[in-house]
Amino acid sequence: MPSDRDTSEETISVNVELASPEWRLRTTMSVPSEPITLKEMLPLVQSFADAVVGSTAKAVEERGEKISCKKGCGACCRQPVPISETEAHLIRDLVERLPHSRQTEIRDRFAQARQRLAEAGLLEKLLHPESWDKGEGWAVAMSYFRLGIPCPFLENEACSIHPDRPLKCREYLVTSPAENCRRPTADNINMVALPFQMWVAIARLDSASAGERRIPWVPLVLALEWAELHTETAEPRPGQEILKQFFELLSSKNRSQEQDALNESC
Ligand code: SF4
Repeated sequence: MPSDRDTSEETISVNVELASPEWRLRTTMSVPSEPITLKEMLPLVQSFADAVVGSTAKAVEERGEKISCKKGCGACCRQPVPISETEAHLIRDLVERLPHSRQTEIRDRFAQARQRLAEAGLLEKLLHPESWDKGEGWAVAMSYFRLGIPCPFLENEACSIHPDRPLKCREYLVTSPAENCRRPTADNINMVALPFQMWVAIARLDSASAGERRIPWVPLVLALEWAELHTETAEPRPGQEILKQFFELLSSKNRSQEQDALNESC
């Protein structure tokens, strides 16, 4: 949790200490002293997420288990990846910054994925996850997975936006054999349970619906069109205020909230 603050003219350093049953993480996060948007804070949260995931992976390996995920295995990149609304805007920005020819290539892949979802009758489902019945998420995820639609950013089974990839992509680790991820069932995937889900905290933070039970999320594969339809409304706020709220949400029981949100789909 955040503690001592050292202020300078441009940034505020926040000392953070976070503990799980297996590890303790101490780090310093520097946030701008000027008001900032949640989107501008995301690189900081991404670095923090990497530290949490790294600590968890280390603890798993110290228990004698092996993390199977490695570069060149993109099986999980054919799942419906849930991202926060702020991340959807970030993905839109990222694509808009690409050189024209590359941007066209990526936009074409998003369009092809959308077309395949429409042909398979899954598009409406994914456009409206808030309408899913309880328990429906798993069936939707499996139907999606069977289509084998690669993430538009997947190239040669590697992530072409690795430094900027969404939080959920960072948080996905398995210890089951990598080949199981190509034929997942309810029983053959051992996901590493992270003690904190950063993407859920951000999804709750970036919404006016912070008090609602449902966590707003966007399927990564539909991020561009979602961001086109939803303008950014978040007002800049002091960085330390956003960070404080982030850690409050992080320390709440957001794992069960995540499962509610996705109906245990992903
Ligand atoms: S953004 Fe990268 S890591 Fe995430 S699903 Fe796409 S290719 Fe995979």
